[in-house]
Amino acid sequence: MRKKDGDFVNENHADYAIIGGTGVYDPAVLESSSVVTIETPYGPAKATIGEYKGKRIAFMPRHGAGHSIPPHRINYRANIYALKELGVGQVLATAAVGSLQLPYSPGSLVLIDSFLDFTKTRPSTFFEESQVVHVDMTDPYCGRLRSVIRQAADDINIDLFDGGTYVCAEGPRFESTAEIRFYQSLGAAVVGMTTVPEVVLAKEAELCYATVCMVTNYGAGISSEPLTHEEVVECMQQNVHRIRNLFFHTIEALGTDRSCRCGHAVGGQKPLVGISEGSERI
Ligand SMILES: [Zn+2]
Repeated sequence: MRKKDGDFVNENHADYAIIGGTGVYDPAVLESSSVVTIETPYGPAKATIGEYKGKRIAFMPRHGAGHSIPPHRINYRANIYALKELGVGQVLATAAVGSLQLPYSPGSLVLIDSFLDFTKTRPSTFFEESQVVHVDMTDPYCGRLRSVIRQAADDINIDLFDGGTYVCAEGPRFESTAEIRFYQSLGAAVVGMTTVPEVVLAKEAELCYATVCMVTNYGAGISSEPLTHEEVVECMQQNVHRIRNLFFHTIEALGTDRSCRCGHAVGGQKPLVGISEGSERI
């Protein structure tokens, strides 16, 4: 604990979180940051906690430091549980994706609003024992948070596709041309490998959660002009800069009061085993 403006600040507390996907590994502008390991019933998770304009933010690279964990091996439950333990209420996530439709060209940012789940092997719930919970997925990506992101994008002149469905494939391989044709025929916008179960667990943990996808390439067979590796890397670097601006601008505009229903998504049952109202956070 240290003192700040007359108040004691818990070094291991954060109100907001950024989950960085492929290409987003650096907490960059966070001040007074420290790396913490949070023990959870699902194993340890790591986050960098720091401040931006007086707001406490936890940054978590989804694939681990150095991009060492493939999508199907990420410990999504530990990550989300850890954010809950830190006191986080609102989560902004990034994900690198392939495009399923020509208008979503490489370099586009897509504020997704729904998903299709084609994963196969991942633990995707906190509620495996003792209680049966069917969490509502009408608005998987918090509508209130999405509107703040939209406004922030307008304010700083960042183009953003508003809405779109994310197909979550199991990976780690890329999709076949037949799979891309199938996903395309479903009307989905982008394909990636990480939003499920992350978005589901965030809802079960009663967090507000939204994802801005970065399109890095067209899905197999969609464009006859494959990008060069250099173009993909350059595209990613530009996106990382834009998405970082977008997220910090969004957090500037956010308060800790949440008027949406995400904080009651589980309907009065204990959101996570081991955490109860008023319990001491680590
Ligand atoms: Zn919400």
